[in-house]
Order: sequence, then structure tokens, then C-alpha cells
Amino acid sequence: MTVSITCYGGVNEIGGNKVLVVDGDARVLLDFGAGFSEGGDFFNSGILPRKVNGAGDYFEFGLLPEIVGLYSEEALKNTEVRYEPPRVDALLLSHYHTDHTGRVDLVDPKIPVYCGETTALIDSAYAASGASPLKGHELRTFRTGDKFRVGHIEVRPVHVDHSIPGAYGFIVDTSEGTVVYTGDFRFHGPMGSMTEEFVELASAAQPTVLLSEGTRVADDADGTELKESDVALQTQKLLSRNGHLVFSSFRGNDLDRVSSFFDACEKAGRRLVVSMKVAALLDRLSDDKRLGVPRLGRDVSVYIRRKGKGAYDDGDYRKWERKFLDNGVTASDIRAKQNEFLLHLDQWTLPELIDIHPDRGGAYIHATTEAFNEEGERDEQVIRNWVEHYGFSYHQIHASGHAPMKRVAELVNGVGARKVVPIHTERADLFPSMTDTKVHQPVKGRPIAIG
Ligand SMILES: [Zn+2]
Repeated sequence: MTVSITCYGGVNEIGGNKVLVVDGDARVLLDFGAGFSEGGDFFNSGILPRKVNGAGDYFEFGLLPEIVGLYSEEALKNTEVRYEPPRVDALLLSHYHTDHTGRVDLVDPKIPVYCGETTALIDSAYAASGASPLKGHELRTFRTGDKFRVGHIEVRPVHVDHSIPGAYGFIVDTSEGTVVYTGDFRFHGPMGSMTEEFVELASAAQPTVLLSEGTRVADDADGTELKESDVALQTQKLLSRNGHLVFSSFRGNDLDRVSSFFDACEKAGRRLVVSMKVAALLDRLSDDKRLGVPRLGRDVSVYIRRKGKGAYDDGDYRKWERKFLDNGVTASDIRAKQNEFLLHLDQWTLPELIDIHPDRGGAYIHATTEAFNEEGERDEQVIRNWVEHYGFSYHQIHASGHAPMKRVAELVNGVGARKVVPIHTERADLFPSMTDTKVHQPVKGRPIAIG
């Protein structure tokens, strides 16, 4: 077997993708993410892997593969695995979500990271606030239409629509056939046509293997799906009919969502206020005009969290935060004009409601996925308690970052590979009912031959 692919993560789980492609002496890794429930049997209830132990605490429970020549010296320092210079030639990132990038911090920084230009921009915003998993790696950026070689493996990144800008799938030409990797995708976002293009190009490559995500493949999969444009419309209606404060929680790096909320605000005559983290991202992404993100100051305001004794002194804020202080909005600004804002609060800024002390009758928009496990339900209940405490109403308005089951089936059938390997799904068993393409169920750590 000279060419093989091995899934070390994303097998019977959503997220945590780690796929190694080996073609003779060329080795390429597709994503290196952290699974959402990964290790939950051991690391849960506040028990976390020790950072100081690098990859060691993950190895203990088989949560990371013991691949020689992959990890940094630092990550292996306290483990039985000995450090060797890189034997993986490149790490390719499909997009900047933790379930695809979350373990890159353990990878040898001598291994170059290939990612989209937008991913590099997003990363630079995160790096400024000290939270980049790609720190230390050389970033080699691409755009759709590019082609690059790693040894004798040729890679074509093709854009797809997902809930973060700069998401890609890959068409990987090996010496014994083509491997297509979808990354995460949907068709119902503002850039759904990009996923259509991906399907066309992938199909033209007549691939041997298709690795497809299947996040929303499920028994009770219903066909109804909210589009991102529906989110904007429903939000606008809510903003118009509510005469009090409206606040929301959503993933701050979902720039489509920021744009939807901005649109809704414009039409309803409100002002969108985002956290400093989101502001830092918008600030950086405004460098890429093609993305057309809402402009800070002009379109969107920044919420300034009280950090000192209430004086909002420069000295109380970190360096990257200080540039936002001048044009920011504070708790008392919001309190004074509650019906003029849509406020984005995340887990770090939610307690600001205590300072804002909003009048009863406002609305909360839950703009993230509904809970799918007990832990998520617990988190959701906490938010519901806050919402109830302040006498707000609770509204679920969300468009998923992932295609529903029938669109996944369309992609699989459209690409028409010789076989499909379901990953990033808890229901790989349902794939055979979706398609005539032969389904190869992956086993964690077991190579699949190409050719
Ligand atoms: Zn994912």
C-alpha cells in the first residue's frame, strides 16, 4: 500500500478532524482539530488536560495519535514518545474552527501550515489577543483556484460556504488516485454557490475517495432549514416590534451572522454592539475588501466592559483593547437608550447585564445551535435563567453552518467518488441509505488504501 489515508479523529464524532494522507515518502495532514466531546469521559466536570504535560495527558487516553515526527519537542517533553524531526511535510487547514485547528498548538512548528488567506487574517486577530493555535508556524496562504505541491502530492483548495469566512475543501491528487476532502460545508449560506462549485470541480477530478462531513446526518433529520437570510429577516421583525433592549449570543467569528444582524439593525433602526473580540476580528478583516464585513465605528459599535473602578482607564485594558475605547459604548450608554441597540454578549460579557440593568420586556436571541447533549442543555438552562431573571423573552433564530442530510446526500452523489468515507458525524451508519456510492466506514487509526 503506497498511498493511504488514516482518520485519527472525526470518526463517529462531530469535529476533531485529523486525516493523514501518505503517498510514498510524502505525508500531508488535513486539519488537526479538537473534538467537541473528545475525551469527555475523562476530561469533564472541570478536569482538564494539564497544559504543562503537552500531548502526554491526551496520549494517556488515546485522544491523540502517537505519530512520530509530528509533535513539537515541547509537546513531547514529559511523554514516552521521543522527539524526532518532522516526518509530516505539511498541515492543511480547511477553516479556522477549533474542531479543525484546536490541537495545532502541539504540532512541531517546523511543519508549515497551509491555509486560506482569510484564515491567516483571522488568526492574526486572534494572535493579537494572545489566543492563536498556529503560533510559531510558517503560514503558506492560498486562495481558491491555486494549486500547490507537497512532495509529489498536488493539492487544489476550493472554497466552500460555511459559518466562518475562508472555508475550503481540498482536491488532493496522489500517485494512485484523487482524494477529495470536504471540510465543513453548507449550501444555504450567503455563499452557497461556492459549495456548488466545489462539487463540480471535485466531480470533474473523478476521485477515488471522498471524505465527507455529515454533522446533520440523523434519523430525525427534517428538511426545514433556516437560511442565513431568514435569520436577518426574523431578527429584523423582532427588533422592530420589541420596544426594549435586545441581546444575543452567537459565535463571534461567524461573520455572516454579524452581517445578518447588522442588516437587521439597519432596517429596524437599531445599532449593533459587539464585544472587543469581535471588534478585533472586524478590524483585521476590513483589510480584505472582498469580504465586505461591517465597518467598525460606522456600522457597528464596540461594547466596553467595565474593568476598573468605573472610569474606563486605558491602564485597565490590554494593549489590543485600548484602540476601541474611544468609540465604545458602555453599560450606562445602553441603559439610557435600551430600545436603540442589539447587543452581542458572549459567556465573558454576559454578566454585564448586571451593570446595564435592563428594563423587563426585552428579548434574547439564541443564535447558536440548539443543545444536542446534556452538557449543552445545562449551558442553555443557565442562559435561560439569566433571560428569565431580567424578564426577557427567549427566541431561537439560527441557520446552521452545516448542510442538512439531504444536501449532504446531494454532495456525495454529485461528486460520484468510487467510495465515500463519512467523517465529522455521529451517524456514519446512515450514509449507505443516502447514496449508491460505496461507503467505507473509517476506523480510528486504521489506514484506508487508495487505488
Ligand atoms: Zn467542524
